[in-house]
Amino acid sequence: MLDSDPAIAQVDIKRCIGCGKCIRVCPFKAIKEVDMRGAIKAEVIETVCQGCGLCNATCPQGAIQLSHFTDNQILAEVEALCRF
Ligand code: SF4
Ligand code: SF4
Repeated sequence: MLDSDPAIAQVDIKRCIGCGKCIRVCPFKAIKEVDMRGAIKAEVIETVCQGCGLCNATCPQGAIQLSHFTDNQILAEVEALCRF
């Protein structure tokens, strides 16, 4: 049986400014540019996303979150691990 990471990136289109940094950084080409009423936004192709988190770490707007982890949850995990 294959194990896969269930986390998938999601874009908050209200925050996204269409800079394209997430598209360039995604190693799986899982993000595409879409035109929403004249505004360029990023959109995750959910079936392709591997949940690696690179886009989340790169977005200057904090507009991408992994579906199971908010930035605060990831920071809390890192802090907990640093105590060991
Ligand atoms: S990096 Fe962030 S702001 Fe830029 S296109 Fe991607 S989601 Fe939008
Ligand atoms: S989590 Fe990784 S695979 Fe998914 S869209 Fe972001 S950079 Fe691409």
